[in-house]
Amino acid sequence: MSDVLINFAYIFSAVLFVFGLKMLGSPATARKGNLLSAVGMGLAIAAVLLTKGLSFHYILIAAAAGGAIGFFAAKLVAMTAMPEMVALFNGSGGIASLLVGWSVYHYQPHGDMLTSITTILSVLIGGVTFTGSIVAWGKLSEKISSKPFLYPGQQIVNSVLMLGVLIGGAVFCMDPANNYPIFLIIVLASLILGVMVVIPIGGGDMPVVISLLNSYSGLAACAAGFVIQNNILIVAGSMVGAAGIILTNIMCKAMNRSLNNVLFSGFGSGTQKKSSGPQGEAKPISVQDAYYILEAAGSVVFVPGYGMAVAQAQHVVRELGEILEENGAEVSYAIHPVAGRMPGHMNVLLAEANVSYDKLIEMDVINPNMENIDVAVVIGANDVVNPAARHDEGSPIYGMPIIDVDKAKTVFVLKRSMNPGFAGIQNELFFAENTRMVFGDAKETLSGLIAEFKD
Ligand code: NDP
Repeated sequence: MSDVLINFAYIFSAVLFVFGLKMLGSPATARKGNLLSAVGMGLAIAAVLLTKGLSFHYILIAAAAGGAIGFFAAKLVAMTAMPEMVALFNGSGGIASLLVGWSVYHYQPHGDMLTSITTILSVLIGGVTFTGSIVAWGKLSEKISSKPFLYPGQQIVNSVLMLGVLIGGAVFCMDPANNYPIFLIIVLASLILGVMVVIPIGGGDMPVVISLLNSYSGLAACAAGFVIQNNILIVAGSMVGAAGIILTNIMCKAMNRSLNNVLFSGFGSGTQKKSSGPQGEAKPISVQDAYYILEAAGSVVFVPGYGMAVAQAQHVVRELGEILEENGAEVSYAIHPVAGRMPGHMNVLLAEANVSYDKLIEMDVINPNMENIDVAVVIGANDVVNPAARHDEGSPIYGMPIIDVDKAKTVFVLKRSMNPGFAGIQNELFFAENTRMVFGDAKETLSGLIAEFKD
């Protein structure tokens, strides 16, 4: 196929990517957006394969193996293990870019300056992304300790390593043909650097790290696109790079933490400043008494958190919601942007349980109306409803926007114990005058409430 037609196909693919990404912005259009982007990718792959002079022998084997792995991985992975899978996919993108850069250099060592620079970038960013993603996967799946691994002078060691790679890269670019050993050292150093930058970060912060590594994998692909002069790889890589960094920024903002704090503070190691914690007496309530209050409620807001995912309580929440509606109550679901352990965690679980999208209300929309709500039912959420974030400057979550459930007329908190959540701090909401603790596994408690309504 002529170059003009191939580039035309690339432009069309890029347009499909842009519209696909835009549609991913809303749950209602996300599936279509995903499909549109997949069609764009299919078209881009077809156009690449029509480039003259390709040997299909290895391409077909690799495509079949990659396609099969992708298909089964997506089919078999549990919804709760999605961040781990994304980590592995990012890592695959990283190692692919590293290998592309390496093989081009291996077969054409006399590249010009631009090719040398982009080769080093694809190797450096690809290597960091690969091993960083493997460590992130290990921490999330608890194959390795999820605790931050800290030692004195850690940041100095990482900075020296990074500086070494940059100086080595500059020396390499001056005379690429005669510097294979330096190239190999850069490959090795990049792989080590990936491990070194991710080990000091706690398992709970891994979703942010994965989003950042996703951005890196895009940048590595973009650099590889320059190395092999493939326009669609440059465009798609930049889009992934930009989307990843935007998501990282959104997550940091929603936790009221800077990216520096996530990457370098060792959050979760127990060394960060903690408030002494509120004191008081929590007021437990039985499922039956909770039922009497819910039965009389005119408006109920469910506020799901990480515990709903642990308990897999999304289906029973939906069932209870429907029963309450039949009983005449207005029911909605308040979604905090960092509830759970990955972006969109609650949306995905509630969508799986067929809760309709228009019932999911964002934090900024629900908060002004909270005073009019009869009962706020907190399902395994903790940090995202902790009022200390509004006023306790000593709290690690101070400044994080929260769902103001404490302003509702009555609050039920469904959790198993008085244990803290991700940030490791006690929650003053549990001791508030209008709060009642419904202790137990969230799924069992909700099933109990449903049984009361059906009796
Ligand atoms: P939290 O981690 O603050 O609290 C979860 C609560 O769920 C716990 O207090 C636990 O209490 C309860 N729980 C656990 N299992 C069950 C169960 N089976 N039944 C009932 N309750 C249960 O969760 P939130 O969603 O409120 O907050 C998310 C936190 O994670 C925030 O601090 C956020 O910054 C952080 N984070 C979020 C990311 C994201 O992308 N969403 C990424 C990185 C971090 P108990 O043990 O007593 O049952």
